[in-house]
Amino acid sequence: NTQTPRMRRDLPVHEKDGGFGILTTQVSKVLGWGRSSSLWPVTFGLACCAIEMMSAQGSRFDMSRFGAEVFRASPRQADLMIVAGRCSIKMAPVLRQIYDQMPEPKWVISMGACASCGGVFNNYAIVQGVDKIVPVDVFVPGCPPTPDMLLFGFNELQRKIREGIPNPPDPLKDSGLKLAGPVQ
Ligand code: SF4
Repeated sequence: NTQTPRMRRDLPVHEKDGGFGILTTQVSKVLGWGRSSSLWPVTFGLACCAIEMMSAQGSRFDMSRFGAEVFRASPRQADLMIVAGRCSIKMAPVLRQIYDQMPEPKWVISMGACASCGGVFNNYAIVQGVDKIVPVDVFVPGCPPTPDMLLFGFNELQRKIREGIPNPPDPLKDSGLKLAGPVQ
């Protein structure tokens, strides 16, 4: 056979490229495992759901056992935003600015009915779903969701990261829309 392995179509992908496929796949698996096991949430409680989020971090539910050891007060040190509670129109630019200040890669959990769709606040003052402002990876339903529901959502996010599922499209990135408010 005069064909080099790279030319042969009947070979599996990892053999066609000389084995680099296996290497990059394994490296991305390790990266995914590492990232999913050491998520650092930014402190971002907005309303009553935040009480349940704090409880999830307490000794009874102990979110730390999944690798989210400490909530960070600075977005520069965080890679996960848990939007816990309703988001007012005035707060929307702040939320977006904090999201923009987080380094890549980063993820968002929308916690509770209000954050996910406005909940009981179907009015002009509340954002009817924070996925209009930031790309949301996981929605946790409930009013409020219990701490273990948040932990389930957190585990789902970990699974997505390990499986390499990308973030959803950024609702503002290509839309040309800009939020009035704090400096972007
Ligand atoms: Fe409060 Fe319920 Fe809204 Fe959470 S979903 S912020 S508990 S009203």
